Amino acid sequence: MILLLMGPQGSGKSTQGKLLAEKLKMHFISTGDVLRMLYRENDPVGIEANKYWGKGELVPDKIVHDVMKEYLSRHPDPKGYIIDGYPRHAVQYKTMMDVFPEPVNALIYLDLKGSVIEKRLQKRWHLEHRQDENQDAIKRRLQIYDTETHPLVERFRKDGYPVIEVDATPAIEVIFADILAGLQDNNIIA
Ligand code: AMP
Repeated sequence: MILLLMGPQGSGKSTQGKLLAEKLKMHFISTGDVLRMLYRENDPVGIEANKYWGKGELVPDKIVHDVMKEYLSRHPDPKGYIIDGYPRHAVQYKTMMDVFPEPVNALIYLDLKGSVIEKRLQKRWHLEHRQDENQDAIKRRLQIYDTETHPLVERFRKDGYPVIEVDATPAIEVIFADILAGLQDNNIIA
C-alpha cells in the first residue's frame, strides 16, 4: 500500500506520517529527511542537493527521483509506505509511478491557513535552527508549495484517487483520528 501525505510546511506531515506508520506497521519516508541524511553523511548527492534546499528551492527532479527510487528499493516493506514530500509538482506527478513500487492508494491532504503556517515555522526554526527555515527560505518554500505542490491535490482528485482532506489546525491526536476516519470511510483500512 502507498499513502501520500501533502500539505504546507508546518502542517504536521511528518508527525502524522510517523504516527500512521506505527499504527499501520508501514514504512514512513520523507524525501526531505533522506536528502538531509545524505548531506550529513557527506554523500556527494546530498552535498549537491543542499545547494538547493539550503535556499528553500526544490532539488532537481533527477536527483530526487534517483534518491527516492534507490531508497525504496533498499528498504523493501511488505506493508508498504507512507510518503511525505513526493510528488511535489506536475512533472513528479507524472513520474511517480516509476518511483513507487506499487500504485498509490490515497492522498492524505493536510490543510492549513497561511497565518498559522508562518507562526508554526518560526517556532520550529527557533527550536531546530533548520538551515532552510530562515525568513527568506520559509517564504520561498511556501510560495513553491502554493504554486506547484498544492494544485496537485486537484490533479489527484480528477484522476480518481481517494483524497482524504483533513484540517491541520487542531491538536495532533484530533488530526490523527480524522485521518484514520477518512481512511476507513474510503475503505483503505479496516
Ligand atoms: P521538506 O523536509 O519536505 O520540507 O523538504 C526539504 C527540502 O528538500 C525542500 O525544500 C526541497 O528543497 C527538498 N525536497 C524535498 N522533497 C522534494 C521533491 N519531491 N522535489 C524536489 N525537492 C524536494
